[in-house]
Amino acid sequence: MTLTTPTAFPLSFALTPSTDARAEAEREAILADPGFGKHFTDHMVSIEWTLDGGWHDANVLPYGPLSLDPAASVLHYAQEIFEGLKAYRHADGSIHSFRPEANAARLQRSARRLALPELSTEDFVESLRQLVSVDAQWVPDAAETSLYIRPFMIATESFLGVRSAQKVGYYVIASPAGAYFANGVSPVNIWLSTDYNRAGRGGMGAAKTGGNYASSLLPQELAYEKGCAQVLFLDAQEGKYLEELGGMNLFLVYRDGTLVTPESDSILAGITRDSIMTLARDRGHDVQIRKVSIDEWKAGAASGDIVEVFACGTAAVITPVAQLLADDFALGDAGAPAGELTMSLRQELTDIQYGRVADRHGWLTRLDA
Ligand SMILES: *Cc1c(COP(=O)(O)O)cnc(C)c1O
Repeated sequence: MTLTTPTAFPLSFALTPSTDARAEAEREAILADPGFGKHFTDHMVSIEWTLDGGWHDANVLPYGPLSLDPAASVLHYAQEIFEGLKAYRHADGSIHSFRPEANAARLQRSARRLALPELSTEDFVESLRQLVSVDAQWVPDAAETSLYIRPFMIATESFLGVRSAQKVGYYVIASPAGAYFANGVSPVNIWLSTDYNRAGRGGMGAAKTGGNYASSLLPQELAYEKGCAQVLFLDAQEGKYLEELGGMNLFLVYRDGTLVTPESDSILAGITRDSIMTLARDRGHDVQIRKVSIDEWKAGAASGDIVEVFACGTAAVITPVAQLLADDFALGDAGAPAGELTMSLRQELTDIQYGRVADRHGWLTRLDA
């Protein structure tokens, strides 16, 4: 069975406009304080896939509930993948996304791992463009706000036998997002999970799939109980090497300016992480992707060689880390301010995303034209 049904032509989308789109006043009230992931725009994209027919029926529809058979395999065997990216409004009103081809490629990699069909990069980017064009007024324009876009793919076939589904749905929804740090960027503490791992060798750690999040929720709750914002996972085999947080990648900054981010087959390779590596190298920093043990962090914290730590991902861009807390030790200083390099990389990346500086790497794709 081949999961990639080649489509000879790019998909063409049919638009069914919403008949109960929110009135301007209601939309403006939401955009004034959108929070994160709470409110959704008036439309959504839906594309169907069947084993026999490949991708077809590309639609922009009024936002609303999906109708799923209770036997739909996603509900039982979690055959699901997703993406997350943002649309940014520039000062001239135009709307841009950041490296959407990288999200398309990652969705294709996730699809392979979850035995789901691959959607072409062209159709993926077009699905974003379709939704953002019809819901352009939902892209806020206040500082550090954006429209968060959530493409996802689920197995919709009604069948309880265990095999990859022969009927699949791809959807895109979007949600206005406020500034992640409403009161200025402030460092967080993270909790070291030693009882639970996120992913193991040969597992799904490198795929963006709900199952990895499901496995991170209990340790995340334990982190909250310890007063931490996020949980840090170690490798499942030896329990020695840093992997990542529940939904963010990690960087350590050394005194000599070297940036180190964990190398592993079971982490999700973030597009924010990759972009930060490029920006740091542009500035002449040595950037290393290699195994980093918890002992290396302990030694670097004790000697003062590790001077900054930060986490990164699309939602918060860069989050400075003050302390790593564990059952029997703590690294870093409570209440430490955000690191200088951490903040300047954050500034540069957001300046590119919001069109405040030149896009020298060609990372932006205009979505509203
Ligand atoms: C999405 C995600 C990230 C961050 O990826 P970005 O492309 O930078 O948003 C990191 N870790 C996990 C587990 C993720 O799901």
